[in-house]
Amino acid sequence: MKKILGLLLTLSLLLMLVPTALMEALPEQTLFTPGTYTVEKQGFGGPITVTVTVSENLIESVEITGASETPGLGAVAVDLLGQRIVDAQTPNVDGVSGATVSSNAIIAAATEALESAGADIALLDEFRLDKAGDGEAERKQEEITTGIVIVGAGGAGMTAAIMAKQAGVDFVILEKMPYVGGNTTKATGGMNAAETHYQAEQNIADSVAQFAADTMAGGHNLNNPDLVQTLAANSAEAINWLDSIGAELPKVSFSGGATNARIHAPADGSGVGGYLVEKFSDKMKELGIEVMLNTKATSLILEDGRVTGVLAEGENTDYVIHAKAVILASGGFGANEDMYTQYRPDLKGTVTTNAPGATGDGIVMALEAGAALVDIEQIQLHPTVEQTTSMLITESVRGDGAILVNQKGERFINEMETRDVVSAAELEQEGQYAYIIFDQHLRDNLKATEKYVKNGLTVQADTIEELAEKLNIDPATLAKTLGDWNGFVEAKNDPQFGRTTGMNDALVTPPYYAIQIAPGIHHTMGGVKIDTTAHVINEAGEPIPGLFAAGEVTGGVHGGNRLGGNAVADIVVFGRIAAQSAIEYIGK
Ligand code: ADP
Repeated sequence: MKKILGLLLTLSLLLMLVPTALMEALPEQTLFTPGTYTVEKQGFGGPITVTVTVSENLIESVEITGASETPGLGAVAVDLLGQRIVDAQTPNVDGVSGATVSSNAIIAAATEALESAGADIALLDEFRLDKAGDGEAERKQEEITTGIVIVGAGGAGMTAAIMAKQAGVDFVILEKMPYVGGNTTKATGGMNAAETHYQAEQNIADSVAQFAADTMAGGHNLNNPDLVQTLAANSAEAINWLDSIGAELPKVSFSGGATNARIHAPADGSGVGGYLVEKFSDKMKELGIEVMLNTKATSLILEDGRVTGVLAEGENTDYVIHAKAVILASGGFGANEDMYTQYRPDLKGTVTTNAPGATGDGIVMALEAGAALVDIEQIQLHPTVEQTTSMLITESVRGDGAILVNQKGERFINEMETRDVVSAAELEQEGQYAYIIFDQHLRDNLKATEKYVKNGLTVQADTIEELAEKLNIDPATLAKTLGDWNGFVEAKNDPQFGRTTGMNDALVTPPYYAIQIAPGIHHTMGGVKIDTTAHVINEAGEPIPGLFAAGEVTGGVHGGNRLGGNAVADIVVFGRIAAQSAIEYIGK
């Protein structure tokens, strides 16, 4: 009995002590909205709950409970990580080696909880306290020789790593964050693929040619047609490969910009990114692939015009990694404001929905090695991002009938226009923001809205006039806007802005809700130039020997606008191709 109790016992840790010396190193500005924030994530054996208590500029305590984690692995993570987070004053701490799933769950939950508290995680990293006082002299030097170095353990990097392992090639994979997954974890939709066995089984007619045509049209024809053809032509095979590693995506449906039902998602409707990262992690564990976490590649080693490795920085060690080939899978630069404002000064101050590791390191390293860049200024904004938390308000809220109004209380756009058009319209409004307005009926039918209410993002009122007052909008104007809109819904005709979808239900059921939103940076479409073999191309149009790239670090696949479902297709298709090309290049 005692044993069972022991096993089931909720492991919990409450840490109250922050060294006073370290407190002095804290930034002076307010970092958090004081309070207690709880987020639950799936761990290895069951749910893990992380409760973070913050004051204005201090992570006071982190309490973690996870009853079902594997003793000796996940349970260790449950025990250790709360302390590490308090010590470092950032959620970006080392995971526990071998307990990747539990560590990732804890770090992700702590990150989300702190984001709910209004934290800017990049700023916390800048001030991380466990590094304060680190002696420069302490660092060790290590030299490694291998076949391939993969930089980044997001979707593209993990795909390439599994491929390399399956081919029996010697390689290392580096990840600068203490957890794997990158932006891939955040992908909510699915993966576009055409002529798949799932489509055939579900009698869905589709073609590689139509997939390619849709992708070109969605990208305003700025895309590289050869890369698009490669993406589409290899997508069904990529689905088969995912099947083979236990990452099935059987649920096929329509998504924006696609002529046919083509987006493939997990059976239970869960977010594709989190699902794939979990499946990739499981497979990597099974194959014995160790990711070098907290290890940042800083530059490429070039010898006679060939890339022959990378320099990297671990927590206490500087690495020189000699390799016959390098695969850059380090993602985009949507979390690096300095970098995106360099290419797009107009985006200064825009919040980002990106994972903190999306800082464009791979692009900078490739540039130094002579790589050409394509479409680097093409950055996708998502129009409905709550600005204090960077939380993305899913497109389904508009799809289910919400409208957008400006500070005057007036609609200003067809809310169902593409992301770029709606974002641009918001930026033309006074204050460069808008409110998304919905009612109780919509809330009852869309589970995603609970998260917004629970996190305090919504303003709520029993009448439209009262809602207007709370938002400092003229009540009569907002009431007229809603009245007009509900008439348009009834008539199935929006003479004002020509909206034709998301008009099934009028907004008539109190209470009414509003969330203040503005555009947020979502995806960087441009990046390193590659050919259809994922070989990186230099300014002269020649492949750079030894250098390959896949995923968001590259440009050309998505052109001027990425379709939902194509980021995941990109990482799996080109992650596989990059691995195959690198393996071929090194002659195994
Ligand atoms: P993709 O979708 O292209 O795979 P992700 O954003 O999912 O891109 O993954 C990229 C990963 O690369 C992230 O986990 C990020 O933290 C990591 N990364 C970025 N820069 C470096 C670097 N310099 N060294 C090691 N890892 C890096």
